[in-house]
Amino acid sequence: MQALVIGGGITGLAATHALAEAGVSVTLVEASGRLGGKLRTERIDGFLVEMGPDSFVSYRPAGMQLVRSLGLEEAVVRPLEPRVVHIRIGGRLVPLPQEMGLVLPTRLQPFITTPLFSPLQKLRMGLDLVLPRDGLARDVGVGVYLRRRLGPALVDRLAGPLLGGVYGTSIDELSLQAVVPQLRDAERDHRSLFLASLAAGRARRASAAQGTRAGVGSPFVTLSGGVGQLVEGLLGALASSSAVEIRTGTPVAALARTGSGVEARLASGEVLRPEVTILTAPGPEAARLLDEVAPAAAAGLRTIPHGTTAVVSLGYEAGQFPSPPVGHGFLVAAGERLSIDACTISSNKWPGRAPEGRVLIRAYVGSRSGAAIAMPDRDLVGAAIRDVATTLGARGEPVLARLARWSGQMPQYTVGHLDRVASVLAAAGEVPGLLLAGAPYRGVGIPDCVAQGRGAAEEAVRIIGSGAAGG
Ligand SMILES: Cc1cc2nc3c(=O)[nH]c(=O)nc-3n(C[C@H](O)[C@H](O)[C@H](O)COP(=O)(O)OP(=O)(O)OC[C@H]3O[C@@H](n4cnc5c(N)ncnc54)[C@H](O)[C@@H]3O)c2cc1C
Repeated sequence: MQALVIGGGITGLAATHALAEAGVSVTLVEASGRLGGKLRTERIDGFLVEMGPDSFVSYRPAGMQLVRSLGLEEAVVRPLEPRVVHIRIGGRLVPLPQEMGLVLPTRLQPFITTPLFSPLQKLRMGLDLVLPRDGLARDVGVGVYLRRRLGPALVDRLAGPLLGGVYGTSIDELSLQAVVPQLRDAERDHRSLFLASLAAGRARRASAAQGTRAGVGSPFVTLSGGVGQLVEGLLGALASSSAVEIRTGTPVAALARTGSGVEARLASGEVLRPEVTILTAPGPEAARLLDEVAPAAAAGLRTIPHGTTAVVSLGYEAGQFPSPPVGHGFLVAAGERLSIDACTISSNKWPGRAPEGRVLIRAYVGSRSGAAIAMPDRDLVGAAIRDVATTLGARGEPVLARLARWSGQMPQYTVGHLDRVASVLAAAGEVPGLLLAGAPYRGVGIPDCVAQGRGAAEEAVRIIGSGAAGG
């Protein structure tokens, strides 16, 4: 074996796939009994339930490139119409203005007429049109930055629910440089974030009219069989390679330095001595494994906070709703008395998620309401059922209820994240033949994890080719 990949999530699988393509003999060891990590799709009573991610963005190329290389283009599905998303505010559901960019409108008209903001709040946002550039050189909280330019209403009612939910933390703590560097680029190029967003909208519509790109469609995609189909595709491709060994139920207990590289001690006591090791375990576990081989990297990794998130999937008969729920779901504004952060009506958003006459809801619980995520499983599911009842009018018990809790596994890219990652990677880089990749470092989304896995594999091929490390 030339390469060892620790962790069989999407990062580790993408790395193993790239190593196999390059003709490197590789062993992947996964602690649990199944592969895919947070990508976990289950079929239950005709519902297609996503326990972790349910889709990914198509504009980060690595995700769609992987889909194409696995021959899965035919399985790609895009969100169904109508694509309306609501914000729950003041106990009501208010539609998100049409044609939104990251956090600002890409067309003025829907924003002017939206009831989401009062005329005074819109006027405050308009201040962005005349404010000079902030020209900040250092990192700052996304919420702090947006509040200064656009006022508190945009943050509490729109940007916070949109971005805070993705990372499961407060938008004021999220790193502008790591999470939305394009906002700073927009300010540099256009001074006003509003003008930049409108310019981006015009450019997108123009290229859509010329048929040069998808244009104004949703950036999100998934596969007809759920994100788990990506895992199945990868395993199918790896099965035909004789140079690949995959071992589930095989936790790595410790990593240790050898004269020229790293050796991995398995929980069974077996010791593996690869030329290169790619470590893709979640942050807290990766830090534990690094303690002996790269203590400075371990200490740095522990400064990247990891939060707990949960997905509660609820299935209903359509008749349990007073009228069929419309749109893709809702985000929860700051100050609402709900336990959940967001809710996707999966059967409205994607084809084939629920049997005929049934509705599949996915309630997401993160850090907005800190108390909810700490509840015992039963209470958390009960809280999600209550929130769906009060917001969408669902009556009675759901026909399906499933909870997936990801405890301390969601990396939070807080202010200064890029510097922290640079020092962790530099410290790990001092150990010959050791590479780190995955969600804690350079992007939590599926495409970013695929890109990191492939990037680590390329680096491993270079190291093996140069004979620079050995177990
Ligand atoms: C609820 C939720 C919703 C999300 N929604 C989206 C979404 O819609 N779109 C999107 O793009 N992203 C989403 N994400 C983010 C995305 O799913 C993750 O960032 C990504 O899947 C992480 O992949 P990974 O391979 O880096 O880590 P993981 O999937 O965590 O895989 C790491 C693997 O390492 C294994 N491991 C741990 N310790 C050891 C050990 N000692 N030895 C061997 N193996 C070990 C684990 O068992 C695990 O299988 C979501 C995440 C969550 C939690």
